[in-house]
Amino acid sequence: MENNRAEVIIVGAGPAGVSAATVLARAGKKVLLIDRADKAGDKNMFGGCIYAKQTAEIFPQFWQSAPVERSVTEQKIVMLTDYDSTQYSYRYSSKGSYKAFTVIRSKWDNWCVKEAQKAGAYFAPKTLVKELLIENGKVVGVKTQFENYYADIVIIADGVNSLLAKQIGLRKEFNDEDLTINVKEVIKLHPERLQDRFQLDENQGCAVRILGGPLKDIFAMGFLYTNKDTVSIGLGVSLDELKKKKIPIYEMLEELKSHPSIAPYIKDGEVIEYSAHMIPEGSFNNIPKVYDNRVMVIGDAAGFVNNIHLEGTNLAMLSGRLAAETAIFAIEKGDFSASTLSLYYQKLKNSIIIKDLRTHNNTVKFMKKHIKTLTGLLPEIACDFFEVLSSADEIPKRAKYRRLVSKILRSGLILKMIPFAFFAMEKCIKR
Ligand SMILES: Cc1cc2nc3c(=O)[nH]c(=O)nc-3n(C[C@H](O)[C@H](O)[C@H](O)COP(=O)(O)OP(=O)(O)OC[C@H]3O[C@@H](n4cnc5c(N)ncnc54)[C@H](O)[C@@H]3O)c2cc1C
Repeated sequence: MENNRAEVIIVGAGPAGVSAATVLARAGKKVLLIDRADKAGDKNMFGGCIYAKQTAEIFPQFWQSAPVERSVTEQKIVMLTDYDSTQYSYRYSSKGSYKAFTVIRSKWDNWCVKEAQKAGAYFAPKTLVKELLIENGKVVGVKTQFENYYADIVIIADGVNSLLAKQIGLRKEFNDEDLTINVKEVIKLHPERLQDRFQLDENQGCAVRILGGPLKDIFAMGFLYTNKDTVSIGLGVSLDELKKKKIPIYEMLEELKSHPSIAPYIKDGEVIEYSAHMIPEGSFNNIPKVYDNRVMVIGDAAGFVNNIHLEGTNLAMLSGRLAAETAIFAIEKGDFSASTLSLYYQKLKNSIIIKDLRTHNNTVKFMKKHIKTLTGLLPEIACDFFEVLSSADEIPKRAKYRRLVSKILRSGLILKMIPFAFFAMEKCIKR
């Protein structure tokens, strides 16, 4: 890199940073992408699956050459009681158009960085950005453990903790109630065994969300994703509730893994990886200021996660693209002021990022308030219903129906569902 100078420096080579770097490099801009990891993605973790639409906008037809694990063809919700479960599955045929793919971040991030390099981006691995360089009140570059680098624009893509956005006062620390802590294990299984257990073909994959059971009465959700020859299983729980209830999170994961409805999926598998990571809750009110003179903030660093739909990488990539387009405009105009970079926020407002975060601004709060209904009562009544439907014994059906209906009435389920109906309506109507 000539005189340690680029037009744009991007800190963080996760989905957000790599997307911005690729778009800028393709437009012929001099871009330096920096990451602290030895190899991109080495320390990054997620569930998870990447979404085809926003990924293909950066890397068209990526599934033909990228290290994807499986195309997600089934989405499942598993509702657990202490011993039983009901499982709801949505299976779809891809018909040549894909919705999502499971990936392993270490392989995936590394592939993405190589694509950015092919486009012309300069990548500096093993480089920790210690702070932003500021001259006359303006960001002019970054200080690393080796050297200083200079640029007209710095794009901050350093993830959920974003020390850099905090350094210049764009962001505060997230509160405990605005974060979930997540733990995950990767469990090795022979591909044929995995496919048999999940009833999948060779390239098909399954994404599972798990509610209730050991995760009842607390804002927590389990997840399970099928990779080629591993299963990723884990859970996320609201940090404030975890602290209040003082439950060790690894115990919750052990209980989840040994639940009679979950254990068969991972039986005889070998745990090959254990990791933990935070996720911002992702609400409109928590979005920090994402631009200033010569800087923009993208991805998790800006809190762009839709926790309700488990979307993060797609919002990261989209925000990366929008910031890159803004930087290209600013470079061509020769103006890197906050007023020019405010175009980035305009673009965010017109995109699903702000629209969806606005829609779900109060959803986590609402769900926390009704968590007992969602994770305790609903799974229990659903199991009771199937118990009535399936038990052939000497008890007359009418007696069973009465018992079930009386339980539903006593539990207040119908009344408890009314707020959900109003809440759903509000989500459709409110602008
Ligand atoms: C358990 C879990 C499950 C998830 N499941 C899904 C899912 O299924 N689908 C989905 O779309 N999203 C999922 N997400 C969310 C998704 O992972 C994030 O939204 C996404 O990774 C954000 O991308 P990013 O580039 O903003 O940040 P990150 O992926 O966190 O990348 C930040 C990068 O910055 C680098 N960095 C940080 N500080 C510095 C520094 N000072 N100097 C140099 N480099 C630095 C890091 O090494 C890292 O590479 C999940 C998250 C978790 C934790």
